[in-house]
Formats: sequence, structure tokens, C-alpha cells
Amino acid sequence: EFITVKEFAEKLNKPVAEVIKALIFTGIMAGINQEIDYETAEKAAKSLEVEVVKAKDDSSGISDDDQDDALDVNMEKRPPIVTVMGHVDHGKTSLLDAIRKAKVTESEAGGITQHIGAYTVTLNGEKITFLDTPGHEAFTAMRARGAQATDIVILVVAADDGIMPQTVEAINHCKAAQVPIIVAINKIDVEGANVDRVKQELTEYGLVAEEWGGDTICVPVSAKQRIGIDDLLEMVLLTAEVEELKADPNRKAAGTVVESELDKGRGPVATLLVQKGTLNVGDSILVGTTYGRIRAMFDDKGKKINSAGPSIPVEILGLSEVPQAGDKFNEVKDEKTARGMAEARKIKEKSLQQSTMRVSLEDLYSQVKEGKIQELPIIIKADVQGSIEALKNSLEKLSTDEIKVRVIHGGVGAITETDISLAAASNAVVIGFNVRPDNNAQILAEKDNVYVKTYRIIYHAVDDIKAAMIGMLSPDI
Ligand code: GDP
Repeated sequence: EFITVKEFAEKLNKPVAEVIKALIFTGIMAGINQEIDYETAEKAAKSLEVEVVKAKDDSSGISDDDQDDALDVNMEKRPPIVTVMGHVDHGKTSLLDAIRKAKVTESEAGGITQHIGAYTVTLNGEKITFLDTPGHEAFTAMRARGAQATDIVILVVAADDGIMPQTVEAINHCKAAQVPIIVAINKIDVEGANVDRVKQELTEYGLVAEEWGGDTICVPVSAKQRIGIDDLLEMVLLTAEVEELKADPNRKAAGTVVESELDKGRGPVATLLVQKGTLNVGDSILVGTTYGRIRAMFDDKGKKINSAGPSIPVEILGLSEVPQAGDKFNEVKDEKTARGMAEARKIKEKSLQQSTMRVSLEDLYSQVKEGKIQELPIIIKADVQGSIEALKNSLEKLSTDEIKVRVIHGGVGAITETDISLAAASNAVVIGFNVRPDNNAQILAEKDNVYVKTYRIIYHAVDDIKAAMIGMLSPDI
């Protein structure tokens, strides 16, 4: 990535002369139109005492090198983006409602929240954004599409029920995404609630409560009685502080689609979560394989607004088609450019669909040899818990210096769409032991090119992985 000295000065908001001086200071003689690379720019910026961060290429596997600016300058603190996960009926929806009701209506007079897929609350003058679709399914489906739109996960565990299968799934999905977890131990108002038992169970999954010497924050709450909500939000802000979440608000906007629909009167409507830069009415954007010019923008209270900065969700009108949740969006120069890029992407996506290479046992060896992978993540689904443990132990023992075998998730039951999403998001293979993929999982696995194999005998699975690791897997099994 290169940038001219002039463009660089504009980005930094500094006189060109000063930037040239800074470059000389770092040993580079450069004219106003000369191109410099990122490392050089970084050095110069440092001597000007400006923080520069290289923009990551985060286009959803379909890379358009021209869509993203090379430099994020002037990083500023941004609100955390939170997803709520947990077992069914443990209180995810109730908690999201409790937070919204406690924090939104109280501060914004008469503010009735619209459901746009995300909302922002304020605590002690600091904002927190919540994604309104609870559960790890949406989270991981978005991740499988290349979107990383969650900074912190609140894991809800009912104090009267403890850790359940979907709690474990949620924990593993968070670990695979390397997103920090805060545990909300819910329903403390219910008879039979046992906070300590939940903490005890959590330790089995590597989550040790702070008060027990670990680093997992656990907050007892009652979504129904609105107990502990502020404590929980304070812990979210504290975690955000530690994570040092930052973004440059003064660059072209980029982010992720959270929700979308075709509205009869208004046409395609999408909720965008701005993650970098500032989005304005009138901006032209490229969204997945569609595009548009923003005609109108609304916040989560249904109020018409003109601009939105990092971590703020907005509902927008003006797209030519309905994008998909998890699609990335990028602001581009003008609508014509946006349309051209969208069309190019459509063509590219078609050809990519056939060729996306995910890890598979057949080509594992060559991928390792080419240095493409150092780790083989595996998801195990089985008919009984005992088999998962046995398989996990045998498989992880196969790890070598070149490649580490790691079981990222194990669960009892059929292979589901969520397993396939997790595999797609983590580049993992799925192994079924005495269980099969259900219909939807099968379709998704084919679409996303996820490698799935089922076995009836443990050592067959172990032998296969072992053979795959040394490139000796016979293609007929
Ligand atoms: P979800 O499936 O995780 O979204 O769970 P819900 O939010 O739908 O809650 C499931 C049930 O638990 C509902 O009947 C809620 O009213 C109830 N519930 C949720 N939180 C609490 C709580 O803190 N205390 C009590 N007593 N009930 C709760």
C-alpha cells in the first residue's frame, strides 16, 4: 500500500512542509507527489506524534484492494459492541429488554426504541452498543461471512439451571472468535438459584471467576427484577477499557450489515453497524454485492440523523438491493464507483463460490507443507459425551511440531448448521461419531465447502486424521 506525501499530509491534517520535514528526520528525502509505503509513513507519523494504524484487509474473502484506505489516523476511543449469548430460556431476550428499558427510556425523554437489530445505551456518559439478535448462531454465521462485529460477549447463565449444552456451545464459539466473555448469572431472584454452583461449573470450561482467583467477570443479575443491570454494564465498560477499543472517526466509513429487509414502501432497508469512520447521508456505499447512495438515516430510536460514527448502528435507505446480514460495507467515492465495484464483486463471487478452499483432510498435508496452516481445528459431534472425550484425547495427542490438532468444540447430537458455521468461521473440519449432519447442515456444508466426515469406530477417525497429517489418506474412505 502506497500513499503520496500530499495525501498523507491531508490524512494527518498537517501542513505538507511539516510532513516532508518529518520524513527527512526519519531519513527519507521525498517530494510532495512522491509515494511512500506504510512503514515510512508510520515512522514519520511517529515523529509527528500521531498514532497511525494499518487498516486490516477485512473484506469478506472477496478482496477489493481498492476499497479500503491504507491508513487509520487519529484513533479515538469507541463504544464496545456487545452480543448476548446463552442457553435457551436462560434470559437472553429478557436481559436485552431490561437493559434497553432501564437505560434508554430513562435518558432519552419519550424515546421509544425501534427494533433495528442493534441499540445503544448510555451509562455514566459512556455508550455501549448491543446487537439485538441473541445467541451464538447469528454471531457465528456472521463470522463465517467474514464479519467480526462483537467486542464483548455477555454469557447468560440461569442460576437455577447452571451450564447447559448451548452454554457450552456459546463458550466455544466465543473462544474460537477470541472474544472476551462476561458472565451474567441470571434469575438470582428465583428460588433454588445458586450462584456459586454456576461459578463452579464455569471452571470446568476454563472460566474461573475473578473472586476465585481467575479472570472471568461474573455478575449476578435478575433480568426480570432489574437487579444488577448497572453493575453488569459497568463491567462491560471496564472490559472495553482494558481492550482499548479504538477507531478513526475521520476516515471513510466501513462496517457490517446487522439486519436487512425489503420494505414495501421504502424499498431495501438495512441496519448498518459503523465500525470505522463516519457515515453520512449522501455517502455512496458498496455493501456486499449491492450498493447505493444513502437517502436517509435513522438511529435506534427512529430519529432521523445525518451522520453516525464508530460503533453506532443506523438504519439506512437508498440501497439498490437488500444486502445480507454479515455483509461488509465500505464508503466509496461516488455511486458510479460503488455500482462498478458491486458488479465486479458479483462476478467474482460467482467464480469464488466454486473455489473457496477450506481445510479438508485430503489436502491437509499439502496445506501444512506449504505453510498455509499450522493448526487443524476440529469440531466433534457424537451420540454420547463419553465418545467426545475419548476422541478429543486421541486426536489432540496426534499434534506434531508442524501442526497442532485442536478440538474447538464438542457436543452431543446431530451435526447442525451452527456447527457448520463455526467450522466455516474457524476453518475447521467436522467429525461426526454415530451421528449425521441434518438436512440443513448438509446443504450449508456443501455451499460453504466445509469438510464433514462421519465415523462409527473411534480408531477409524483417529487413523484418518493421522494419515491425513502425513499425506497418506487413501481417497476411498
Ligand atoms: P431466552 O430464551 O434466553 O431469550 O430467555 P427469555 O428471555 O425468553 O426468558 C425465558 C423465561 O425466563 C421467561 O419466561 C422470562 O420471563 C424468564 N426470566 C428471564 N429472566 C428472569 C429473571 O431474572 N428472573 C425470573 N424469575 N425469570 C426470568
